[in-house]
Amino acid sequence: MTISVLNRTDTAAPKQAEPTLGALHDRAGQVDEDLLPCRINNPELWFAELPVDVEFAKTLCQDCPVQALCLDGALERREPWGVWGGELFLQGVVIPRKRPRGRPRKDEAAA
Ligand code: SF4
Repeated sequence: MTISVLNRTDTAAPKQAEPTLGALHDRAGQVDEDLLPCRINNPELWFAELPVDVEFAKTLCQDCPVQALCLDGALERREPWGVWGGELFLQGVVIPRKRPRGRPRKDEAAA
């Protein structure tokens, strides 16, 4: 009787880059800088106070060639703040949107 063993160590799948800031910097250095939205637009948008600006930055990230690596790294580093990879981070987690300043209206649930 012959027993065959599946060797999973020699797969031909390409290795994914570790999602470090260094890897992101290296990958970003390999693409045309004009394709990186946070390099050609005002970088303050990615750390903006106004929710409309934050949403605009998230939209701009959608066309970025390093978006997946950027997002993976931000998740792994638990970024404290800002837009990374098309998502808004606050205290290390992704939140759906930035709240405007001030207290919520008392009748907001009815609105
Ligand atoms: S995905 Fe990352 S690198 Fe690309 S524009 Fe957004 S924040 Fe910048």
